[in-house]
Amino acid sequence: MSSYSIPGWAKDVANALRPGLHVVVTGISPSGNIHVGNLREVLVAEAVVNALKARGAEVRFVFHADTIDPLRKIAPDVPESFESYIGHSLSRVPDPKGCHVSYAEHFLDPFEDALKRMEMNIEVLRSHELYEGGFYTEVTREALEHTAELREILQEVSGRKMPEHWSPYLPRATSGQLAGARILEHIPEENKVVFADEDGWEEVADYARGEGKLGWRVELAARWKALGTTFEPFGKDHTSRGGSTDTADRMAREVFHYPVPGRYEYEWIQLKGRGAMSSSKGIVLLPKDLLKIMPPDALRQMVLGRDPARALDLDLEGGFPRFMDEYRASVEKDPVPFTHLVTVAQTVGTDVDAAAEMLRRGGYEAAARDREKLARELSYARIWAEEWAPESLRLRILDEDEAKEAASGLDADQRGYLAAVARELKEDLDGVAVQDLLYSTAVERGLKPKRAFAAVYTVLLGKKSGPKAGPFIAGLPVELVRERFSL
Ligand SMILES: [Zn+2]
Repeated sequence: MSSYSIPGWAKDVANALRPGLHVVVTGISPSGNIHVGNLREVLVAEAVVNALKARGAEVRFVFHADTIDPLRKIAPDVPESFESYIGHSLSRVPDPKGCHVSYAEHFLDPFEDALKRMEMNIEVLRSHELYEGGFYTEVTREALEHTAELREILQEVSGRKMPEHWSPYLPRATSGQLAGARILEHIPEENKVVFADEDGWEEVADYARGEGKLGWRVELAARWKALGTTFEPFGKDHTSRGGSTDTADRMAREVFHYPVPGRYEYEWIQLKGRGAMSSSKGIVLLPKDLLKIMPPDALRQMVLGRDPARALDLDLEGGFPRFMDEYRASVEKDPVPFTHLVTVAQTVGTDVDAAAEMLRRGGYEAAARDREKLARELSYARIWAEEWAPESLRLRILDEDEAKEAASGLDADQRGYLAAVARELKEDLDGVAVQDLLYSTAVERGLKPKRAFAAVYTVLLGKKSGPKAGPFIAGLPVELVRERFSL
């Protein structure tokens, strides 16, 4: 279990639930990339699970992947030819990239993998397997027997007139489509429905074997009962007035005689400058992308935000170092500032020993000791620098020719200054000592510090500014700095 502390809102939610055994459910349709906005739902549920466990409750935590759901719209990057599978169960549509057994698995697998990497203690259920295994047989029969009441609730809540032959059950036609077919007869003792297909032919579907599914709104209420759900978070698309939770609440109480589970409404996540996360619009950030730049518990903290009932604007660019500093300050003593790690990572590449040396000289003795942790942090910092960092934080030490070219733009005072620093620079100077040397040499030579430091950054990085010069230079090989300063 995560060491991340239980947020206050999650404790409040847990305290409002009745004592005893709990089944916390979260569900997603793997119809496209399962993004960080979807992860928010799972993390809300996880936080409530942890809060319930902290109260001593026994909890089953379920991720219900809606793999039997029909394909409604093909995801971006999926070939247009897949239009022919619209209406087919995601578990029966081929993988557009050919790497998994189905369309559903192609999108579910990376998400499940991220949950594993986050060490989330969650049971992943696939709805097509539940239907095929007979898990939903009882509630499907109940729904079919109460077709008229369910239809009435749908009409009242949504304010829309339902077709006369509306059915809570969508049998799979021979074409493979889950269509709103006209049910001609229900044979409860055989778990079968007789229905008319598109051409008017009579067909039979066995609902104990997954030969169809309940329509989404009915399924939600039926699923609560079948799983014994006591808590489920929802995004605002479901909880709007007349939306799916409104209908499911009434169906649960009036038809399935099952108490409405506890609920939490979470808001959506926007990606700064790009809009709300959405698989269908292609505004997508996957959990695995974020696990490349931060540890799992930081991801939890970032995605939940202060309060998941509020919209979140994810800033992975300029605002990210501050987030990481706050996160790290909450879990460790005196962490190295993230921007310094970014400098180190870009200076030494993957050389952990060189990074440790650079940190030691920069005055971060403790961080240099745990090499495994350091290697991880360097990797986060390096990938962030490559993929997200603003230009001002991107660094690359110039090679000799580039440095010569850059140095040619300096005046005689600046060159004289660099040469003087080079003569005094020694192997054992730490970051503070180098900073003093850079500053005092400028003062002694009557050179304005701003121009002095600009000269330093110019020959090393080809820029007029950069990371704090003392610790940065102290971390570089002395020979290299001497050479660059004497061009
Ligand atoms: Zn695949």
